[in-house]
Amino acid sequence: MSQKILEVSKLNKGFGGLSAVQEVDFELSEGDQAAIIGPNGAGKSTFFNLVTGHHTPDSGTILFDGMDITGWPQHRIARAGISRAFQISNIFHRMTVRENVRTAVHAEMHKSLNIITRADQIGMAETDSVLELSGLSDKGEVTAGELSQGDKKRLELAIALAGKPRLVLLDEPTAGMSLEETRETMALVDTLNAKYGVTVLFTEHDMSVVFNHARRVTLLHRGEVIISGTPEQVRASSTAQKIYLGDHHL
Ligand code: ADP
Ligand code: MG
Repeated sequence: MSQKILEVSKLNKGFGGLSAVQEVDFELSEGDQAAIIGPNGAGKSTFFNLVTGHHTPDSGTILFDGMDITGWPQHRIARAGISRAFQISNIFHRMTVRENVRTAVHAEMHKSLNIITRADQIGMAETDSVLELSGLSDKGEVTAGELSQGDKKRLELAIALAGKPRLVLLDEPTAGMSLEETRETMALVDTLNAKYGVTVLFTEHDMSVVFNHARRVTLLHRGEVIISGTPEQVRASSTAQKIYLGDHHL
């Protein structure tokens, strides 16, 4: 559990004259579920974009499972096991739910399989298990474009899961959702973490969601880490209160 899956040191990224991420040190243990919080413009999305290779850091290092992935292109980081879900939709709307998941399962298998196998015969069991895990077993034959918003989220998660990620980054996974949708989505995230051992890092504005679903919380402000600790430690911090939590009814 104390094995570090992500170790970020002295990470910096500027846009023009603005430092979006400044000297950020951050650690995540394998199997953990953690949140990054902070006001708009704090640098949360930029930090995620640096970890996933969407942006290249100006300086600093990012270790994933002890491997230096700093400056790697996105696809290589994704293949190494860091995946982002819920924001970039990977759904093919004209295919059925099952076809969507099988396509993702196949893509994962081809990372390791070099032999020629009939595509229609591989990945069936895997597809079924991912569908079940995501709560989509009874919707396999539904055309993806016809799914409800909540089921689309499930399908996005299923597609991400098919890639067997070890670390999943969720940037505002519940943005724009009703209370009920938020509850369902976060339950799914908890399942992913608890049952499948996937390490989860998410950002979220709703502090009740953060404090109910994260075991570690890091507060960013103007690109800098203000405090990082357990929810209780962050909640008790007067600096955190002043900068952010005070406005969020805690
Ligand atoms: P958050 O996700 O915490 O709201 P962001 O990481 O999106 O914050 O933004 C941090 C700062 O960096 C903001 O001032 C934002 O305007 C700026 N920024 C983010 N992405 C870009 C970009 N691609 N080009 C220029 N400025 C950017
Ligand atoms: Mg953001």
